[in-house]
Amino acid sequence: MKLIDLHTHSTASDGVLTPALVARAAAEAGLAAVALTDHDTTEGLAEFLSAAQPGGPELVPGVELSVARPGGGSIHLLGLWVDPGEPRLEKGLERVQQARRERNPKMVARLREMGVEIAMEEVEAAAGGGQVGRPHFAQVLVDKGVVHNLGEAFGRYLKRGAPAYVEKQRLEPGEAMALIRGAGGVTVLAHPGLLELHPLVLEKLVAGLKDLGLMGIEAYYSEHKPSQERQLLGLAARLGLAVSGGSDFHGANKPGIRLGAGQGTLRVPAALLAGLKQARDTLAR
Ligand SMILES: [Zn+2]
Ligand SMILES: [Zn+2]
Repeated sequence: MKLIDLHTHSTASDGVLTPALVARAAAEAGLAAVALTDHDTTEGLAEFLSAAQPGGPELVPGVELSVARPGGGSIHLLGLWVDPGEPRLEKGLERVQQARRERNPKMVARLREMGVEIAMEEVEAAAGGGQVGRPHFAQVLVDKGVVHNLGEAFGRYLKRGAPAYVEKQRLEPGEAMALIRGAGGVTVLAHPGLLELHPLVLEKLVAGLKDLGLMGIEAYYSEHKPSQERQLLGLAARLGLAVSGGSDFHGANKPGIRLGAGQGTLRVPAALLAGLKQARDTLAR
């Protein structure tokens, strides 16, 4: 059986391999297709697509967006076959990246207002050059002796609702779907199993997302149990959604997840491409 992997990350977001090396690794793994789906950016796609080889895997340009979940929290939305240069998508992504850049300095300012001597540079150092997040703030607070441990850092300062917490700016689901579809991309709900919802609640959520433009769900995923995979395949069939699958490969940043194989047992059949492409072809270009 020919296999594919439609969910991977490169150095354009938080992966370890360059976009070209993701393409090459997919060729070496004998995959029939691979999608590059970096977080909130299409920056790696030109390099990725230029790494195409005759007889090699089909290279699918993609993106993974963090989206507000109706009712609180967030979901991840994949866009497959997006047109990297499409202006409205690029503008939307720029807005998301801008909000992310502004969030961390805001949290630093809140902490300083509370009398905590902390500088953005210290938090960046704790992140080791990668994307800065609240765990890095917590680490700095521990290192400075402001709190005793990471749990206390979150409890007193950083958890949602705590004084130094700044809300993450996320795209609304309808807006995110429109951006992806407008760029010719197929919208796929990433790793629904990680939401850990009761099946009926999940079905309601997915049905609501379908009304907003969702076209497929990622039933095959490294961290889905076989029972979840079956449940999600059933859900896709009931709601008339396409099925996708991928490893969420990040290289050494997510140890134990292999390209095209996940934790070793992931098998995403290449036959899924037909349904996804059918969905893509329904989009007015
Ligand atoms: Zn994700
Ligand atoms: Zn991902």
